[in-house]
Amino acid sequence: MSIFTTAVHSGHVALKPGQPSNPPIVTASGWAHEKMEDLDAALADERAGYMYSRDAAPTQEAFEAAMMAIEHGAGAAAFASGMAALHAALLVAGVKPGATLVAASELYGKSQALLNRLADTSGVTVQRVNIRDLAEVGAALAEGPRSEAEGAAARSGILLFEIISNPLCHVADAPALIEMAHRHDTQVVIDSTFTSPYLVHPLDLGADFVMHSATKYIGGHGDVLGGIVVAASAEAAADLRKTRSLLGSNLSPFDAYLALRGLRTLPLRVREQNHNALKLAQWLADHPRVAHVHYPGLPDDRDHPVARRILRAGCFGAMLAFDLKDAGRAEVFAFMEKLNVIQRIPTLGDVSTLAAYPAHASHRALTPRERSALGITEGTLRLSVGIEDVNDLIADLEQALR
Ligand code: PLP
Repeated sequence: MSIFTTAVHSGHVALKPGQPSNPPIVTASGWAHEKMEDLDAALADERAGYMYSRDAAPTQEAFEAAMMAIEHGAGAAAFASGMAALHAALLVAGVKPGATLVAASELYGKSQALLNRLADTSGVTVQRVNIRDLAEVGAALAEGPRSEAEGAAARSGILLFEIISNPLCHVADAPALIEMAHRHDTQVVIDSTFTSPYLVHPLDLGADFVMHSATKYIGGHGDVLGGIVVAASAEAAADLRKTRSLLGSNLSPFDAYLALRGLRTLPLRVREQNHNALKLAQWLADHPRVAHVHYPGLPDDRDHPVARRILRAGCFGAMLAFDLKDAGRAEVFAFMEKLNVIQRIPTLGDVSTLAAYPAHASHRALTPRERSALGITEGTLRLSVGIEDVNDLIADLEQALR
């Protein structure tokens, strides 16, 4: 079924006469039971039923059901933020002493910082790789411990990457990476925040977990903080919910409601955002004050062929980055302060176009040397393209670049 239909129809409570058309926001933290044996069976996980909202709650479950359907998974767990979702996904995928976590060197800055913290405290070995260099990734995967058993349960390593990377919009060859990871008994966790479920379904490509910051395209309106992990197996999904119950990193019922409401229009929004981003990238690439545009939709972009192969036809994402010519922090700040329509807000995925400065926002957690090794310069800006009329966005950029 098309995502345009699933987005609108999934995650309903029940469509029977007399029942509400949308899931109610249930704020209860506990549920009453008449028979103590029933409560006991529910607490023992022997029968379904709500008891305590850190374990399961109806509004959150409606959002999870919708995301499970949209991402073609076996189960989902919603979290208080994208970071909480990533943390839980990594724990369930197998972060533990002796395990190897092979991670793309270009990730959201705080994801990088989380990996450093896990390496310092959990005994996992974190190995950074250039995710676009399949030989380098293969060598790193081959170094990890191998399991004697076979199949998903035997996977002892973890591979983590973003299909479209934050902030330079590099595109990872997900099908090749997943195939290689599974050959090396490694579970694959994909952060699909930049791609959104509209551009690619990582679980269909064989990934074990896909996570999103629901704060971004899923919520879509800049009013939610949330995260979601969808798992390929029901066992992993159950483990995610158990892990969440220990971490206490649950999504609130209000945020679950907003995330589900946002999801209904995700395909329409992201389709428009992609069209606008392509036009903006083309316009910026021709501007004399722009040194380089990082956008896989441009035919001469290094990742254009892989983007065409793995992303939805005609879509290359609604995020782009560009380097101002001969510019440092002062010039970028001056340019950003001249923007009138485009907002200076360090988030992404909203209906409005947002400009951010990776060196002081998304990638602040990195040292200047680490940023420059990735290609993030003092003149690099990131745009999250919204649904405004693209001509208004171009006019705004034009006057700010003057
Ligand atoms: N992953 C990516 C690619 C992100 O850009 C972000 C936040 O910007 C996150 C994860 C973390 O999400 P959240 O801010 O909802 O915790």
